Amino acid sequence: MENKKENKFISFWKRIFKRADEIMFPANIKCLGCGVDLPEKREIEFCDVCKKKIEYISEDKCCSLCGTSLKQKNICPHCQNNKREFDEARSVCKYNDFMASLIAKFKYHNHPYMSLTFGHMISQKFKELKYDVDLIVPVPITKKRMKQRGFNQAELIAKVFAKNVNLPLCCEIIEKQTETSHQADLDYEERQKNILGTFKVVNKKEVAGKNVLVIDDVFTTGATTSACAEVLKKAKAKHVYVLSVASTSYFDQKKPSKKVVKVSDFAS
Ligand SMILES: [Zn+2]
Ligand SMILES: [Zn+2]
Repeated sequence: MENKKENKFISFWKRIFKRADEIMFPANIKCLGCGVDLPEKREIEFCDVCKKKIEYISEDKCCSLCGTSLKQKNICPHCQNNKREFDEARSVCKYNDFMASLIAKFKYHNHPYMSLTFGHMISQKFKELKYDVDLIVPVPITKKRMKQRGFNQAELIAKVFAKNVNLPLCCEIIEKQTETSHQADLDYEERQKNILGTFKVVNKKEVAGKNVLVIDDVFTTGATTSACAEVLKKAKAKHVYVLSVASTSYFDQKKPSKKVVKVSDFAS
């Protein structure tokens, strides 16, 4: 009798959790870009028209260090003038108006299910890159931000990705302890200074001797991921790679580094 009661109790809660999951991640058969019905369920949920709005960054037309889009393979002025702590960073596509509106909807208007599409997008890119990775780590957000938003966008994307590529995911390795506000108004050096000390590796044992892949939604100046890489390297990570969904073009950034030299060869 007691057992029967217990089973009923468990199945009740299982139903509740399943329902909560369905609300968070509905079986979407609409295009994430324009809302048109899709003929079938797709991993990357875009119609044929919206698919064309994604500007993929190819390996032969990007900065070989930070992955920003360039006319041809080169080292972008940003990487020439600033120390990058990661070994290599890549992004799936350009952060154009289409991607900016999608990511804003995902992050600020509470659409966590969009992480499925973004996770599949970075999985495709990862298969092209063939990085030797031991561990996946999403860029953390502060506890305060987590409370406000309800989820960490990088963590949701990383979860889908880790499952796809069958690699271990560790969300409790780096902590972001303080908020870095108004990053968008700062140049790279100011961002670096602002972000310095906000990240802390709380589980050093997990990282030592490993190749770590850091996941983020948007790569802008790279100051955030470079700071993550810095603390990971201090914790003895062997290599640190970065993979993001979208990357702002070096030339789209409001206030690039003051040290910039020649840019004529690089505009994309
Ligand atoms: Zn569409
Ligand atoms: Zn670069």
